[in-house]
Amino acid sequence: MRPALVHHIGQLADDDLPAYLYDLPGLREHVRAVRAALPRRVDLLYAAKANSDPRLLQALAGHVDGFEVASGGEIRHVRGLFPEARIAFGGPGKTPAELAGALDAGVARLHVESEHELRTLTTVLGDRTADVLLRVNVPVMLRGVSLVMGGCPSPFGLDPAHLDRCLRIITDDGRIRLRGLHFHVASGLDARAHLALVAQVMAWADRWAHQQGTALAEVNIGGGMGVDYTRPDEVFDWAAFGVGLCRTLERHPRVTLRIEPGRSLTAYCGWYVTQVLDIKRSRSQAFAVLRGGTHHLRTPAAKQHDQPFEVIPDQSWQHSWPRPEVRGEPVTLVGQLCTPKDVLARRVMVDRLRIGDRIAFAMAGAYAWNISHHAFLMHPHPTFHHIDDLDTPVADAYAGRPA
Ligand SMILES: *Cc1c(COP(=O)(O)O)cnc(C)c1O
Repeated sequence: MRPALVHHIGQLADDDLPAYLYDLPGLREHVRAVRAALPRRVDLLYAAKANSDPRLLQALAGHVDGFEVASGGEIRHVRGLFPEARIAFGGPGKTPAELAGALDAGVARLHVESEHELRTLTTVLGDRTADVLLRVNVPVMLRGVSLVMGGCPSPFGLDPAHLDRCLRIITDDGRIRLRGLHFHVASGLDARAHLALVAQVMAWADRWAHQQGTALAEVNIGGGMGVDYTRPDEVFDWAAFGVGLCRTLERHPRVTLRIEPGRSLTAYCGWYVTQVLDIKRSRSQAFAVLRGGTHHLRTPAAKQHDQPFEVIPDQSWQHSWPRPEVRGEPVTLVGQLCTPKDVLARRVMVDRLRIGDRIAFAMAGAYAWNISHHAFLMHPHPTFHHIDDLDTPVADAYAGRPA
């Protein structure tokens, strides 16, 4: 953790905790490196559902080619912040109102998920046109990945057997332009596994285009670049991925590739900072009860992992009794919820942890606050801090609690 972030945490009052800290310079540097590793003929969209915090989106905006959104709410949010941004609208279960809203908002691409959705689109188009990609659930082989959305029975995308009917709808309608295909098949892939997936997907897309007698113009290969929560320092190998995509483009000189990562862009810039409220032992196992919990940071519960963390010792013990602590032994970090599922990290070794010490959970910038069940138990919400200039005093960086 950067010293300036540790300093900022030291400046926070107990009542400011739990707190989300967003390291905006760190985010900019990261996404700049990602963009630089990719060939120019690869469009980079950010999947807003990973974290749609406005200041994060603003930090990203100068470095990405646009945003992928998955609901009418995300369209309004992103369009409100960036009147000119390129937006691609994906996701299952689009309502007629969302499709009409997407056209009104001038989205650049619609990712069609089903035949019914395509027919619904024809009913809201009026005298407008739409540029679509058909999302296909391609038959691919995947091993050892965390979230699989394709290559198996799945509610996502079109079964290849239904593509012909969709093509007929598009041809008959005349207002819909088929720009290409979309594949978002899995999440949690390392660069090698992702490139292997890209190879399978492109081979399938080639065969399909050949059978249709058409040329492929655009292929969106989705997101899913892996984030390893057990190794916070080992980020997805964007350099190797860029080199691999370069080769793919050499074999497909007329194709524009597009990717839409979420987690791998914003996970690292967020920290969930809290404090040890209590330390206890049960049947010889140590537990630390923290302010807050999985109602603020659901990621470890959702993904069943230990959220990585750093301990920031606090010296301000003011009670007359001995300060409870654990030393050199495994401890389970739990939150304030009355459920055994409220676990942030399980039996993790610590050198020393005392009541009052602060804990900064790393990798809390994606699928963290925004996927959490904030209302459960009615505890106060965290405070939010966007650290932009790392020398900014706490009072200036302080953004307050959300309503
Ligand atoms: C969620 C999602 C993404 C982003 O996935 P990450 O694992 O966060 O990179 C991209 N495309 C689609 C269609 C998605 O549903």
